[in-house]
Amino acid sequence: MSRFWSSAVRALQPYVPGEQPKLANLVKLNTNENPYGPSPRALAAMQGELSDTLRLYPDPESVRLRTAIADFFSDINLQQVFVGNGSDEVLAHAFLALLKQERPILFPDITYSFYPVYCKLYEVDYRCVPLDDNFALRVADYAQPNGGIIIANPNAPTGRALPLADIEALLKANPDSVVVVDEAYIDFGGESAVPLVNRHANLLVVQTLSKSRSLAGLRVGFAIGHPELIDGLNRVKNSFNSYPLDRLAIAGATAAIEDREWFDRTRQAVIRTRETLTKDLEMLGFEVLPSAANFVFARHPRHDAEKSALALRHRGIIVRHFRLPRIEQFLRITVGTDEQCATLIAALKEIVSV
Ligand code: PMP
Repeated sequence: MSRFWSSAVRALQPYVPGEQPKLANLVKLNTNENPYGPSPRALAAMQGELSDTLRLYPDPESVRLRTAIADFFSDINLQQVFVGNGSDEVLAHAFLALLKQERPILFPDITYSFYPVYCKLYEVDYRCVPLDDNFALRVADYAQPNGGIIIANPNAPTGRALPLADIEALLKANPDSVVVVDEAYIDFGGESAVPLVNRHANLLVVQTLSKSRSLAGLRVGFAIGHPELIDGLNRVKNSFNSYPLDRLAIAGATAAIEDREWFDRTRQAVIRTRETLTKDLEMLGFEVLPSAANFVFARHPRHDAEKSALALRHRGIIVRHFRLPRIEQFLRITVGTDEQCATLIAALKEIVSV
C-alpha cells in the first residue's frame, strides 16, 4: 500500500496467474500451456518479420490476421472479428464495452477467476450462479433479470463443456443481454458457438491462440460477433492502445491460423493423451470430471489436494490447486506430453499409496 495509490487501485484485487518458475527440468502442468510447439510456419513467419520494418508501427486494424480468422470459420467476415493482446485483453474490453450495464451480470460460481477481477476494475455489478453438484451449468438458472452473461465453454477450471443447444437456449432466453462465451479451450473437444453469431446479435465468442495454437507467449486472442458488438470493442481498444498486436504477433498468428494441419494434429494428440491421463488417474482412485479441455480436474477421496500438489512439487511436477470453496480438494492438471503424464502418474502412484 502506498499513499500515492489512487482509491481505485487501493480497491483492486488483482488476478494471480499460475506460476512461471525459473527452474529448469520441471514438469510444468499448471497453466494449461500446449506441450507441442507452435506451427513451424508461424515461427518462420515471425522470423521473416524480424527486419528493419520493426521501426514502423504495426497495422492498428490487424487486417491480415482478422481476414485469416474470418476465413478459418465459415460465413464470418472481417467486420465480425476483433483481435487483442491475448484473450484476457479481449475479455477486459468486453467487460467495459458490453457487460457494464445497469443490472448485474451473471456468471457461474466456479469459473475463470479473472471475471470478478474485471468486474472490480470496471465497477461492473455481478451475481454468481452456482453450478450444480456435479459442476454442470444449468441454463434455467440464468432465466433471471441480468445486464449480461459470461460463461467459459469448456468451463475452467472444471473442463466441463456445455452443448451448443444449451448455449442457444441461453441466447434465446436472454435476447436483451449480451452473452459472452469464452472458448479458450474449445478446440479440445467442445462445440464452438461461432456458427451461432449470424443468428444471434447478442452473442460474442472469445477465443485464444494460447492453447490450441500453442502461442501463449505471443499473446493473441480474438472475438467474433455482430459488427455492432465488434464496434463497441473497437471503441474501447482505440481509447486504450491503438496497437495491441505487434508486427511479430500479427505475422505469427496469421500463419498459425492458416496452418490447419498442425493445429489438427497437435490438438488431436492432446485429446488422446487426456483420455489416457483420465483413465490412469481413475485407476489411482481419483474422481475426474469429464473434460473437453487441455486439462483435467480431479480429486482423490482420501488424499488432500493441497498436500498432493506439494508432494508433486517436491518431485519437480507442478499442477494448479485453488484454495477456493467447493473446489479446494481438486487438482487442475494440464495435459502434457505422454511422457510428462507418465511421470505425473508415477509420482501420484507413490503419493496415494501412503
Ligand atoms: N479464458 C480462460 C477460461 C482461460 O483459462 C484463460 C487462460 N488463463 C484465458 C481466457 C486467457 O488466455 P489468454 O489471455 O492467454 O488468451
